Amino acid sequence: MLKFDIHFKDGLARVGTIHTPHGDIETPAFVGAATRAVVKALTMKEMNALGSQAILANTYHLILRPGIDLLKEAGGLATFNSWHKPTFTDSGGFQIFSLPNVKISENGVKFKSYLDGRNFEMTPESSMQAQWAIGADIHMAFDHLAKSENRSDMEEAMHRTHHWLDRCVKEHQRLDDLRTKHGRVTDLEGDPHGGLRCGGGKGPAGPAQKLLYEQYLYAVVQGGTFNDLRAESAQYCASKPVDGFGIGGVFTADGMAEMLQTVNSILPEGKPRHLLGMGQEPIDLFVGAEFGCDTFDCVGPTRMARNGSLYTKDGRINIKNAKYTHDFSPLMSDCNCECCKNYTRAYLHHLFKTDEITAKVLASIHNEYFVVHTVDMIREALKDGSFQDYKQSFLARYYHS
Ligand SMILES: [Zn+2]
Repeated sequence: MLKFDIHFKDGLARVGTIHTPHGDIETPAFVGAATRAVVKALTMKEMNALGSQAILANTYHLILRPGIDLLKEAGGLATFNSWHKPTFTDSGGFQIFSLPNVKISENGVKFKSYLDGRNFEMTPESSMQAQWAIGADIHMAFDHLAKSENRSDMEEAMHRTHHWLDRCVKEHQRLDDLRTKHGRVTDLEGDPHGGLRCGGGKGPAGPAQKLLYEQYLYAVVQGGTFNDLRAESAQYCASKPVDGFGIGGVFTADGMAEMLQTVNSILPEGKPRHLLGMGQEPIDLFVGAEFGCDTFDCVGPTRMARNGSLYTKDGRINIKNAKYTHDFSPLMSDCNCECCKNYTRAYLHHLFKTDEITAKVLASIHNEYFVVHTVDMIREALKDGSFQDYKQSFLARYYHS
């Protein structure tokens, strides 16, 4: 079982340490979104330097490109992308169900690659096999995202997610048994495709992949905007032998606190909880931590950075705006990131106006640092009992309220 120590509690909020084979994560923590094995515009050295503790890659995207066989050949994601700290993988459910023309059955989901039209089938078992081959420390169970926000669709998706969770748990256990018995989980006997039935299923099996370290499984709580469904899903997930929990699906920003209160009051306290895809808005990080989430990931900070939308303590600014042409102050005066320590708003404005690649790099360094550092400060404030003061002063200044 994944080791998670809780050092401090305040209501549902907690400060802890998740111990993974690739190192510890001090929580609460913001996890960098490395969807395609990279945090866009940043190197892993830059991610390290800005204080990131962990990244989250996406199984669906990695199956399409570069493909699981290639990742096996590389020896897993950590050696491929040179990130030697903890890694999470999302199952890919969220992305696959967002595609047009997917065929869903109780067995799994069939879809076409948007890159080359190849047919794929993802099942709970193949998602687990792919995540083991990627070699992330923490895997998400394969979940079904509802096709709409109405109650019957949400309910159907939740029940299917629960059926699939049972299969994920079983497959995860089978792969872990192979690891402990044989020191590897792929090139399974009798399976010509190296144990993976996704990725097209054609071509030679990848080489034997040695995986000597433990990997862990999180169940994903669904239920959308309906708190009774969220409670039912949390109870179901809590009853399973998993290492932690992802909280996924759709929910409104307004309803997030209530939903998290419902879910995290039910989930066992001693296991970590990851809020999937949240953290673009600083308020979500405060609410998430306050109501019992330990880690967060979101593509928003770096996506906005590439468009010139940059965090400051007084809210987001658009650096492309003409008013920054002669502004020789740093983007954020008390920010310790490499961008703010070395460059001015005027320079960033110039880089964006001339469409230089470096504009996206510097902006991404700053935005990623901002969210990582904000959650680090939340952790410190929880430790010294000043969380409510920190939250109120931060949010009042950021949202001008
Ligand atoms: Zn900065």
